[in-house]
Amino acid sequence: MTDCLFCKIISGEIPSVKVYEDEYCYAFNDIAPAAPSHFLVIPKQHIPSAAAVTPENSMIVAKCFEAIAKITKEKGIESFRIVSNIGEQAQQSVFHLHFHVLSGRDMTWPPG
Ligand code: IMP
Repeated sequence: MTDCLFCKIISGEIPSVKVYEDEYCYAFNDIAPAAPSHFLVIPKQHIPSAAAVTPENSMIVAKCFEAIAKITKEKGIESFRIVSNIGEQAQQSVFHLHFHVLSGRDMTWPPG
C-alpha cells in the first residue's frame, strides 16, 4: 500500500533499525520505546489490523509469532509482553498490523 508508513519501512523508503527479517515478516525498533526493549513485528503483506485476519492470511500471523519466539530467544528475553492495538479507541495509530514486543521492565496489569 503506497501511503502506509510501515509498508514504506519494509521497502526501505523510510529508515528503521532492523531487528529481524524473513520472507513473511519484518521487525524493527519502535521509534518511541515504551520499555527498555520495544520492537515491532509486522507482516510484509499489508493487513490493516488483527481485525482483518482471515483464513487466507492467518498463516502470516503465525509466521510473525514464530519470528517473535526466535528474536526473543536469540536476545535472551525470557519475559515479555506482546500488544496489538486494533482501532482508534484502542490507540492504534498505524493501520498496518503490528505486534509490539516489550520487555526489560516490570509491567502492570490491566494495561491502561
Ligand atoms: P500503534 O499506536 O499501536 O498503532 O503503534 C504504532 C507504533 O509505531 C508506535 O509505538 C510508534 O512509536 C511506532 N512508530 C511510528 N512511526 C515509526 C517509525 O517511523 N519507526 C519506528 N516506529 C514507529
